[in-house]
Amino acid sequence: MWLWDLPTANFFSEVIQVARKMAEATKKHVFIGKRDPEAGDPKDLDAKEAEPPSLCTRSNSRATKSHRFSSVKCLEFKKRFFPHIGEYAWNDWRWQLKNRYTHVLSLPLLFPLIKEEKEAIHTKGRLPMAVTPYYLSLFWDMPPEDPIRRSVVPTSREFLVSEGESQDPLGEEGNSPAPGIVHRYPDRVLFLATNFCSTYCRYCTRSRLTGRPDNYSLKTAWEKGMEYIRSHKEIRDVLISGGDPFTLSDEDLGWLLGNLRSITHVEIIRIGTKVPAVLPQRITKALVRLLKRFHPLFINIHFTHPVELTNETQRAVEMLADTGIPLGSQTVLLKGINNSSGTLRELFLGLLRVRVRPYYLYQCDPIMGSSHFRTTVQEGIRLMKELRGHISGLAIPTYVIDAPGGGGKIPVDLGTTIEVNPQGVSLLNYQGRIYSYSNPGQAL
Ligand code: SF4
Repeated sequence: MWLWDLPTANFFSEVIQVARKMAEATKKHVFIGKRDPEAGDPKDLDAKEAEPPSLCTRSNSRATKSHRFSSVKCLEFKKRFFPHIGEYAWNDWRWQLKNRYTHVLSLPLLFPLIKEEKEAIHTKGRLPMAVTPYYLSLFWDMPPEDPIRRSVVPTSREFLVSEGESQDPLGEEGNSPAPGIVHRYPDRVLFLATNFCSTYCRYCTRSRLTGRPDNYSLKTAWEKGMEYIRSHKEIRDVLISGGDPFTLSDEDLGWLLGNLRSITHVEIIRIGTKVPAVLPQRITKALVRLLKRFHPLFINIHFTHPVELTNETQRAVEMLADTGIPLGSQTVLLKGINNSSGTLRELFLGLLRVRVRPYYLYQCDPIMGSSHFRTTVQEGIRLMKELRGHISGLAIPTYVIDAPGGGGKIPVDLGTTIEVNPQGVSLLNYQGRIYSYSNPGQAL
C-alpha cells in the first residue's frame, strides 16, 4: 500500500537559509580557528581541550586526520556551507541543534537527490527528517548508496507498507502503565524521557512518537513516571531512553537522574543514546561531571556503521569511559547499510578500541515502511556465524529479535548446539567441526 500525503508547509524558510549559507560560502570569508562572534563564551565549550591521541589503528577514510578538534571531513563541510562559523560554534552542541537540516527540500542545495529521495520531498512522512550539520558532513559528498545517508535521508520507500509491519511493533503502548513508562520485564522499566532526537533514523522503532510536535509535557509526565517507579519496589533497573535523553539540558538530565537516584530500590540506571555518533559535541566536561554523580550508571550507544567512529565520536566516548561509565553499543542490522560481515567486524572491533563493548545486534523491527531496511533472519544468523570465532568474543554482540507484540528480546539461536541428551551436548565450533561435552556422571 502506498501512503501519499500533502507536503508539509513551512520548509521554505529552511531552503532560504541554506541558500543564504551557500551565498555566504562564495564570499570566501573563512574564520577557522578564530573567535566567532556567534559562538558562546569559549570557556563554556570543551572545544578548548586538546584532542586525545588517537587509539584507532584502522583508518577511517572520512576522518583520518584532525585539525584541532574537528575531523578533516567536517572542516571541509563547515568551510563550504558555514564559512562564517568558527570552530568554537561548530563544536557547540546547541549550535549543531539549532542548525539541523530538517527538510528534504534543503538537501538538493547540498547534493543531488535520487528519484526516491525526491519523491519523499512532497510526502509527509511518519517520521520527520532531522540531521545535524556534523552528521551531514560525513556523507554529503558521498554517493546515494552511502550507508549513513540511507539511514537518515527519507525516501519514498518508507511509504510502502508490508505485511506484518505496524506502528508499534513491540507493543509498548500496551505495556505502558504511566506516561512515558514501559514496564515489560519484572524488575526493570523503560523511561521515555523525550521524543526529540538530534538526528532521526529512518528505521526508528518509536517513529510513532519521535519527532512529533506533541512533545511530552516533560516535568508533569516525568513526575508521574517517578511516582510509578517509586510505588513499584520490584523495579531495580531503569533505562532512560526516548527520543534521545542526551538532547536534554544538563539541568533536566540532572533532575531525572537525581530523582531516580533518590529512589532506594533503583539500583541501576541506564541511558540509551545515539548522541555520541550524531552529535558528539554534546559530550561536554559539564555533562560528564554531572553523570559521574549518579553511578552505577551504564550507557548504551546506538551505532550503525564504522564511518561513525570519527575523531569527534572517539573523543566523546573516551570522555564517557574515563568517567568510569561502562559503555555498550546497540546496532540494528540494516540491509544495504551494515549487512556484511566485513562492515560489522570493522564496527565491532572499532568500538572495542574506543572502549565500547558491542552489546546487541538487533534484527530490524517491523515498523511500517521498513521492508527496504530489513534483512532476513537467516542472513543475520549467517553474518553472526561469519564473525564468531574469527574475532574475539568481546567484540561479538548478542543477536536478538525484539519479539513483535511485546515478547521482549530473544537471542537468536545460531545453531551451535547440535544435540542435547542426558549424557551431554554436541556442539558445532566456528570451523564447522562437532565436539561433545559430557555431563558429570557416576564415579567409575
Ligand atoms: S536515535 Fe533512537 S530514538 Fe532517535 S530516531 Fe534514532 S533510533 Fe529513533
